[in-house]
Amino acid sequence: MIILTLNAGSSSLKFNLIDTADETALADGIAERIGLSDGFIRWTIQGEKGRVDQDMKDHKDALKTIMDELRKTALKDRDVTAVGHRVAHGGPHFGDPMLVTPKVLQEIEELAALAPLHNPANALGIKTAMEIFPGKPQVAVFDTAFHNSIPDYAYTYGLPKELCAKYEIRRYGFHGTSHRYVAERTALLLAKPLDMLKIITCHLGNGSSITAVNKGKSVDTSMGLTPLEGVIMGTRCGSVDAGAIITLMEKENLDAKGINALLNKQSGLLGISGVSSDLRDIEESRASNDSSRLTFETLCYGIVKYIGAYAAAMDGVDVITFTAGIGENSNSTRAWVCNRLRNLLGIELNEAVNNARSKEDRIISTPSSRTAVCVIPTNEELMIARYTAKLV
Ligand code: AMP
Repeated sequence: MIILTLNAGSSSLKFNLIDTADETALADGIAERIGLSDGFIRWTIQGEKGRVDQDMKDHKDALKTIMDELRKTALKDRDVTAVGHRVAHGGPHFGDPMLVTPKVLQEIEELAALAPLHNPANALGIKTAMEIFPGKPQVAVFDTAFHNSIPDYAYTYGLPKELCAKYEIRRYGFHGTSHRYVAERTALLLAKPLDMLKIITCHLGNGSSITAVNKGKSVDTSMGLTPLEGVIMGTRCGSVDAGAIITLMEKENLDAKGINALLNKQSGLLGISGVSSDLRDIEESRASNDSSRLTFETLCYGIVKYIGAYAAAMDGVDVITFTAGIGENSNSTRAWVCNRLRNLLGIELNEAVNNARSKEDRIISTPSSRTAVCVIPTNEELMIARYTAKLV
């Protein structure tokens, strides 16, 4: 089967074309600045990079251009079997991936209250694909789904019960497809059954979340009702005393929109450092710039605290797995975190393997390390393609 996966943002559309027979990526790319000037689409098809600069009036325009390119190159005489969509929020009801029906689509749109930045764009992506591929199965894969197994005492906030019930306020968690994928790969890499492992998966990228995976099930995760909670991120604040937010709203005269922008766009690595939201810039400047030093250490210390907490939550941990942009590439973040946990978890890092650049799944701890440490490049698109193929 040839599965097209789509991840629609408000002005972007990421795509992957996957042949499920051998799970190869035939093509991947992104259309950016949809509905704006200076639009462009860039892609990699069979190892060859390409780009077209073209304004796209809407997502339909973007997907049409993408499909024209794919039909000429990656697809040729073959056709897309089905489309798998990444959907940020599945709310309390959506667990497993769903074949999209008008009712499912309506519910995804209604969940915009819980994910105002993501769900409307995801729904738009589904509607666009329905127009371009009439009659073809569309499957929604929810970022929250893997976390449906979190027990009530771990997803409950200390807020009035009636209000939480009324507005469906609780921890949902995100990056579920990634956490599940890397947990499964970790078990394969260690050649141990998943249902015998206590894994802490650290998805550290522009957005970051850490998950406690016990016997293959998510039992706690750092993101909450929205993807703001948890460790500090590129421009998102992570966990902050709610009192600090009230103070900022009062003193800076900010309404909900204003505080939302501050917490989502001006905080995190960018907010603390004043330098950049990209960890590469922070790492480069941290020897000479004390704000960058502080930013790096605040990030790493936050990760250490979540790992300690989740080791307690699971009454132990067998393996810590790093993934996503920072987790896969930043050897200094991994080294800081692992060295800080040396005594508590008996971690011994294999410095040579940690420092080597690689795109492969790898164990970066020594054979005698009490807790294993792995790096697994995430592949959410492959997971979405697998789910889609399974459902159709
Ligand atoms: P993602 O959201 O998973 O694509 O991750 C993107 C983020 O990963 C970037 O904003 C950087 O902060 C970080 N990143 C990527 N490559 C590196 C690297 N070589 N060293 C440190 N951080 C990196």
